[in-house]
Amino acid sequence: YEKINISKLIAEKEKSEIIVNNISNPIIVTDNENRIVLLNETAKDLFSIEDNINNCHFLELIKNEELFEIINNNHDQKNENKINKTIVIKQRNEKMHFNVLSNKVKKDKKLGFTVTSLEDITKLKKVDEMKSDFVSTVSHEFRTPLTSMNMGLSMLLEEDIGNINSDQRQLLEAVFEDTERLNELVNDLLDLSKIESGKIQMEFDKANIKKIIESTVKPFLQQAEEKKVNLKIDEAEENINAWADPNKISWVISNLIGNALRYTPEEGNIKIGSYLQGKNVYIYVKDTGIGIPEEYREKIFEKFVRASNNDEESSGTGLGLAISKEIIEAHNGSIWVESKEDKGSKFIITLPRYRHLS
Ligand code: ADP
Repeated sequence: YEKINISKLIAEKEKSEIIVNNISNPIIVTDNENRIVLLNETAKDLFSIEDNINNCHFLELIKNEELFEIINNNHDQKNENKINKTIVIKQRNEKMHFNVLSNKVKKDKKLGFTVTSLEDITKLKKVDEMKSDFVSTVSHEFRTPLTSMNMGLSMLLEEDIGNINSDQRQLLEAVFEDTERLNELVNDLLDLSKIESGKIQMEFDKANIKKIIESTVKPFLQQAEEKKVNLKIDEAEENINAWADPNKISWVISNLIGNALRYTPEEGNIKIGSYLQGKNVYIYVKDTGIGIPEEYREKIFEKFVRASNNDEESSGTGLGLAISKEIIEAHNGSIWVESKEDKGSKFIITLPRYRHLS
């Protein structure tokens, strides 16, 4: 009876091994102490591993600190069970892009294993790069004619060339407004493609978040007053420092405040604040505005996505949050939104903390 049971168990084990080994995505299973419990064949192939993996620490076998950080951080995270990030791995001199999905599997309430699978998205990345190149070229080509249209229209409106009647003025003003809008769109697209292609260099430095927030909020105070919206900075510690490019972070916060003002009606409140938690600096912009429908909360960070809370007429290009996301991710940070329709939205950014002094 015992023999039958054992051979049944062995057969089951072999079955699971065959299944795991034949999954085409690389799979890595680690334990509490980051020791490798299992690697499927594709994972071994990706990291050129031939040795016996028994009881080896992750970094002993897989010399990839970035991937290790993702898996290790997943251990430390209290609430989240899943982590989804993209990384680049070089294989046979070729850059490959992977989407890393790391999943904590609990056993008897204690942490058991972390199952990490890597999805090859190299092809998708290439298509995305081609698309970005195309958008960048087209935007660039649009710039010169747009500038001359703008100049021509300004001259006509200023009556440098001759007088215009009020009907003509109305028409020209409408065209002028549209070219301005197109200009804004082209500039945003160019900014985005520059960041995407890595052409905009981040100038990393020790960045004092409180100072950045204060100087970013200032230009909005009057606009808020005119709109009868209460714009306030929440109390925060003096020495919250991030490892970041201050100008780019200020751009992102400006964009979030601009949005908060746009989508918060009169008598509303907007609060901006920052705090430290673990290895990260947190920055938030919270409003009591119209909120964002649930199905849009992730999508609004994509290009050209504007939520249904937006009436078609309201200005904006749908690119601000996409640019913000690119900037924050270039800092190894993250950005997301928590929101309730008709109650408000809270945009949250995390940035790596400046480790030595703060
Ligand atoms: P834009 O504001 O130019 O349309 P963004 O990328 O900045 O583009 O924002 C995308 C969409 O996200 C907006 O069109 C709007 O629907 C939604 N959104 C952004 N911020 C807020 C906010 N604070 N409150 C409500 N909706 C928002």
